[in-house]
Amino acid sequence: MTQNHYDVIIVGGGVSGAALFYELGRYTNVKKICLLEKYESLATLNSSGSANSQTIHCGDIETNYTLEKARKVKKTAKMVEKYCLQHGYENSIMFSHQKMALGVGYEEVDYMKKRFREFKELYPKMEVYDRAKLAEIEPAVIYDENGRERPEEIVGVGSQGEYTTVDFKKLSVSFVDNTLRIEEKITDIFFNNQVTHIQKLGSVYHIETTMSQFTADFVVVNAGAHSLYLAHRMGHGLDYGCLPVAGSFYLSTKKILNGKVYMVQNPKLPFAALHGDPDILVNGYTRFGPTALVLPKLERFKPGTYLDFFKTLRFDMNIVKIFMDLLGDADIRNYILRNFMFEVPYVNKKLFIRDARKIVPSLQESDITYAKGFGGVRPQILDKKNRKLMLGEASIQPEGEGIIFNMTPSPGATSCLGNAYRDVKLICEYLNLEFDVERLKAELVEETPLQGDRT
Ligand SMILES: Cc1cc2nc3c(=O)[nH]c(=O)nc-3n(C[C@H](O)[C@H](O)[C@H](O)COP(=O)(O)OP(=O)(O)OC[C@H]3O[C@@H](n4cnc5c(N)ncnc54)[C@H](O)[C@@H]3O)c2cc1C
Repeated sequence: MTQNHYDVIIVGGGVSGAALFYELGRYTNVKKICLLEKYESLATLNSSGSANSQTIHCGDIETNYTLEKARKVKKTAKMVEKYCLQHGYENSIMFSHQKMALGVGYEEVDYMKKRFREFKELYPKMEVYDRAKLAEIEPAVIYDENGRERPEEIVGVGSQGEYTTVDFKKLSVSFVDNTLRIEEKITDIFFNNQVTHIQKLGSVYHIETTMSQFTADFVVVNAGAHSLYLAHRMGHGLDYGCLPVAGSFYLSTKKILNGKVYMVQNPKLPFAALHGDPDILVNGYTRFGPTALVLPKLERFKPGTYLDFFKTLRFDMNIVKIFMDLLGDADIRNYILRNFMFEVPYVNKKLFIRDARKIVPSLQESDITYAKGFGGVRPQILDKKNRKLMLGEASIQPEGEGIIFNMTPSPGATSCLGNAYRDVKLICEYLNLEFDVERLKAELVEETPLQGDRT
């Protein structure tokens, strides 16, 4: 074997790759692991703090999650919280804000109250905020520009005093730093190494990068939208196509909101509904977004990747059918059109402000600017076999092959440790390694079983 041989190679140094690097290093007896990253540092794409909404999505204010999905998401979200608490990262990587989902108008208020009754068992700190309480804790959602109360019925459902916000770039860096400190293992990271080719010869994977060559017994590709690109090149995941949906933000130069304010979401759309919250990277000023716009490239704010997009889409009649179905739905059609207009200079702010005023009725055009350089790309997966846009994350795990490809649209950053846990189990089984599950559970998994929680 060459010097560049590893037990496991992880492709991609975003929060998913970094979390897996950490779990493999800390909880298994693997001897040599390596992380290969295309750019000069960790988390420069979707896991960067300016690319995403910085939210720990634990299922309480995400109104498109079913109770079952919320239960799963909560478990993985708590892993991030427990990790940060264990290492003392409060107020440096993880922050606490009040949070709520806002129901506006009779139908949404009714829906939010019903949802509260269903979900409160899972979220003991969840509360209902009536108009008077909202005026006290989040006054901007109640008063218009003349200081008058908005006329619609309104309710907030959320909680206070919980960890809600993470700088996912700093989290990624902490995962890697903590792994590099482990002395009894070889834990390497190579930047500026874009993986161009992966091939299995016998039982060993041969990996070519723009700088070097490596071999590994197991490979996990956590390369965002490029995971599917690399999978296709190896003949895996051919039933999937990737639809890159960019998300942009608008930024105010004021602290308008005290905490995270989400809205009731359209369950047909996999993207987080427009929300407003304090940006931990920009002085706590309020950030609104994200928008949703299909872009013909796999990486935001980086040159190229147009060709990669066309290759990864694998355009055929199944894709046409999925698009026709999406455009056939009036809600989705209007949503796509409106979000397209949010990116068109001059009209964008005027239109965006109309939507954002549902959260902050007093908001003026002069209060916000298009946040240049903010935003990322959600690699949404098109399931060609079932002719559907998939709503969440996807993982391709060809049986007995020793390779995994992960595609992670939202809430992929929240579930980084949960996804890594799933992959570590598969890796250890395949390579016959020991996995100290008890230690991982003690450190990262919330202990308290909930009433009605079967697992
Ligand atoms: C607008 C928006 C808002 C979001 N808000 C939230 C939120 O509030 N909460 C949440 O949990 N999630 C959110 N998400 C989702 C979250 O950002 C992603 O799920 C998460 O960052 C994905 O991490 P990753 O490591 O899988 O991918 P990425 O962060 O995209 O990292 C992939 C890495 O792979 C590298 N790479 C790519 N190709 C190669 C190659 N060939 N060789 C080597 N390296 C390669 C890239 O350079 C990159 O570093 C949001 C996403 C968007 C776009």
